[in-house]
Amino acid sequence: MNYSCSRYELKCNECGKRFGNQPLSACPDCLAPLEIAYDLEAARDLFTKENIAAGPANIWRYAALLPIPEGFQPDLPVGFTPLVRARNLGKRIGAANLYVKNDAVCFPTLSFKDRVVSVALANAQKFGFDIVGCSSTGNLANSVAAQAARLGLKATILVPADLEPAKILNTLVYGARLVRIDGNYDHVNRLCTQIADEYSWGLVNVNLRPYYAEGSKTVGYEIAEQLGWRLPDNVVVPMAGGSLIRKIRKAFNELIYLGLVEEKPVRFFGAQASGCSPISVAVKEGTDGIEPQRPNTIARSLAIGNPADGPAAAKMIRSSGGWAEDVSDVEIVSGIQELAETEGIFTETAGGVTTAVTARLYADGRISANETTVTCITGNGLKTTDALIGRYQQERAVRPRLADFDAYLRELDGITELELTTAGAL
Ligand SMILES: *Cc1c(COP(=O)(O)O)cnc(C)c1O
Ligand SMILES: [Zn+2]
Repeated sequence: MNYSCSRYELKCNECGKRFGNQPLSACPDCLAPLEIAYDLEAARDLFTKENIAAGPANIWRYAALLPIPEGFQPDLPVGFTPLVRARNLGKRIGAANLYVKNDAVCFPTLSFKDRVVSVALANAQKFGFDIVGCSSTGNLANSVAAQAARLGLKATILVPADLEPAKILNTLVYGARLVRIDGNYDHVNRLCTQIADEYSWGLVNVNLRPYYAEGSKTVGYEIAEQLGWRLPDNVVVPMAGGSLIRKIRKAFNELIYLGLVEEKPVRFFGAQASGCSPISVAVKEGTDGIEPQRPNTIARSLAIGNPADGPAAAKMIRSSGGWAEDVSDVEIVSGIQELAETEGIFTETAGGVTTAVTARLYADGRISANETTVTCITGNGLKTTDALIGRYQQERAVRPRLADFDAYLRELDGITELELTTAGAL
């Protein structure tokens, strides 16, 4: 497999100025975010269905349109997660053609952040950083710690102090240095901007952000390829900083431009928690800017009150003809349970958000039953089990005898009947 990438470089979205390749995330002139621009014509012969099919069953099959440094030999099998036909969930919410893109099982750390980190760290090595890191709402911390360990890079990771215990442990186990900051994600991120300048570290979502963000395109490539090189009618995507949803759009645009899929309108639907909904509020109110919020939700991985790509995400959603919704913490827990009970997929709070928002979009008639819709599950439920505390009780242990088992089952059924009677009476 030839991993040589078509030429790419940093470009300002606003003024169009180009900056070559360097650890830089914003245009010095107009402060707008920088993005990776490709020579798409040069990619035309490389980025073909045949070459992709001949590639490995992971994100590196799309290397021709990823910012991968010359000579980089990727060997970590990241991505290419299942696209699951969700008939049971669909039946429950009135969706006849629903698919779940299941990044709850992404390799190596069970969230879609593995995609962005692998692309960012390839560039961190090329730029010569010995120390890498990130500001994180949890999943990014896990992935940077794991992948830095494998590459022999030192990692220093900053998180809000109130992060879920499982996400803290899932960072420390890889030997990373973890700094808990007494503040929310937006405080952590602002500090990291200063740290990147002061210490010259490679912070994947700060000074390496344009490279990092490109990794999210692979979700879009995979969805199209797994649908048989077709685009869906709708995509439902959880939003934190607002990067993933935009990059799925970018991936679809590239596939259309290069002729790998037929052009068709795709509507983008953003999902947030009501306790941190700056982007969905902007979409609903039709405003250009983002009104920052102070996050208060169990969906901590989405709790970014001042999202870097929020304005661009809101604009893209509206121009696609889509919509954004937000759901309460109670609905998030129900969303987690609903996906688990119908499809056997255990997602974290962010996936509860996406599932609950997807159900709402069908219920409100914003998506109609027969359209092909992909809902993006981005993280694993084992990392946020605290969200379910108190929902399930452990029953008493039973003696290992059939008679005891029989009695126990009758007792259980009795309790259930009693509960049903009580519930009916209320
Ligand atoms: C980071 C994250 C997101 C959102 O990503 P953005 O690109 O910042 O919008 C969604 N789901 C999970 C589980 C995440 O960790
Ligand atoms: Zn500029």
